Amino acid sequence: MQLKNYMEVIVKDAIEDILPDINMCRCERCKLDIAAKALNDLPASYVVTQKGEIYSKINKLRSQFEVDVIAAVTKAAILIKRNPSHDENGKEIERD
Ligand SMILES: [Zn+2]
Repeated sequence: MQLKNYMEVIVKDAIEDILPDINMCRCERCKLDIAAKALNDLPASYVVTQKGEIYSKINKLRSQFEVDVIAAVTKAAILIKRNPSHDENGKEIERD
């Protein structure tokens, strides 16, 4: 059994769909930064699932929240593009 936030799966899928349309870095760090920002703007949807069962319920949730997810991911991507966590050499940018 595992505790899973369905919204996290939907947001990660949406990032893969949306990023090719935005001219920005697509490294793992930037994707995770986008996911974190977008997920903070979206309602969490936690469920306890058996491994493997998760995808059957995702499509329903995806259609319910599609517009919100796309808006949140696009907004987050633009923020990260303007203010990435690493410089052009891939080095972490220190922030206080
Ligand atoms: Zn990056």
